[in-house]
Amino acid sequence: MSKFSDFNFKGHTALVRVDFNVPLDAEFNITDDTRMTATIPTIKKILADAGKVVLMSHLGRPKDGPTDEFSLKHLVKHLHELLGGETKVFFADDCVGSQAGMTATMLREGEVLLLENLRFHKEEENGDEAFAKKLSTLGDVYVNDAFGTAHRAHASTAVIAKFYEPSNKMFGLLMEAEVASAEKVLHQSDKPFCAIIGGAKVSDKILIIENLLERVTDIIIGGGMAYTFIKARGGKIGNSLCEDDRLQTALDILEKAKQKNVSIHLPENSVIADKFAADANTQDVPSDQIPDGWMGLDIGGKAIGIFSEIIGKSKTILWNGPMGVFEMEKFETGTKQTALAIAKATENGAFSLVGGGDSVAAVNKFNLANKVSYVSTGGGALLEYFEGKILPGIEAVNG
Ligand code: AMP
Repeated sequence: MSKFSDFNFKGHTALVRVDFNVPLDAEFNITDDTRMTATIPTIKKILADAGKVVLMSHLGRPKDGPTDEFSLKHLVKHLHELLGGETKVFFADDCVGSQAGMTATMLREGEVLLLENLRFHKEEENGDEAFAKKLSTLGDVYVNDAFGTAHRAHASTAVIAKFYEPSNKMFGLLMEAEVASAEKVLHQSDKPFCAIIGGAKVSDKILIIENLLERVTDIIIGGGMAYTFIKARGGKIGNSLCEDDRLQTALDILEKAKQKNVSIHLPENSVIADKFAADANTQDVPSDQIPDGWMGLDIGGKAIGIFSEIIGKSKTILWNGPMGVFEMEKFETGTKQTALAIAKATENGAFSLVGGGDSVAAVNKFNLANKVSYVSTGGGALLEYFEGKILPGIEAVNG
């Protein structure tokens, strides 16, 4: 594998796998372009070297071939703007075939070609070798900058790498930064190391918690998933979220943590509501004494104080998942105060990594994205990384 920043792209056509899977509204306006802006430095470096760029990505989950809804043509104008308005950006109606091949061959130095949605071909998700080989003819250098899909063994993210010599394949700048920050947290963390895990479901987070038990000092558990733990310990949780088939798992995790000397912190108290609605009546009560008919929708004031103190003492912080139903103003305080505590700890020298769709949405909502050390673009990929899995997209380029 080559190092992207040391590679001179002059005279090369770089086939770059990006993650342009952005949300679009009904008029095809991009409602959040974070994934596009994140990979612009990679594209610009290749163009600045006088290289040629062929971009490939998926968009959404098309089921049966091409549809207007999932066409990447809707992104061309915005890509052109993000590149500064001077760069020529061509579009090929199909990611393989003669038009794509010819346009790629005729590209001039400093020009960009965006290919149509890879997932219009079912071979992409099937990891089809012949399809990957066809894609590989579109560039003599392969750059993987799509951390968001690195956990998928698809044709363009993993299989394709075998058609390139080690010296002609590499990670882009975004992928490098994502991997570096995840590695720092997993393998070179300064202690105390606090992981904050929240969100709705325990079942989604069991593997990550188990893997983190080997590495962290403290685990803060908030959000809906906390109530399965609280019920497992004998608490009364009323109508709060609970996975009854995970009660034993929760007890096992608590026991394992004890053996490994990891402190697990559950919210002492909760903001409870009499319905799941913005205009619900609320109270702040101990989390293990929630009356029937009421549900915990946010961590309470006392829990915020305790959690903030632990975060404040930490030198490494990983945050995945909100502390409550932060989408409703009435239940956003726990998540907001947690984000503020992480920002403050970061200002005092801690390294903080925020990842996973909803915690990223939360730091953005509270305008704190630039007050943490790193905000990951990879939801599922980051989770799997922290579960200790080897990501196919990373292995393929490394190998
Ligand atoms: P996840 O995708 O598992 O990370 O869950 C994120 C979702 O969990 C968000 O939409 C939150 O609104 C929701 N959530 C967080 N805390 C609670 C809670 N106490 N009760 C119900 N839903 C919650």
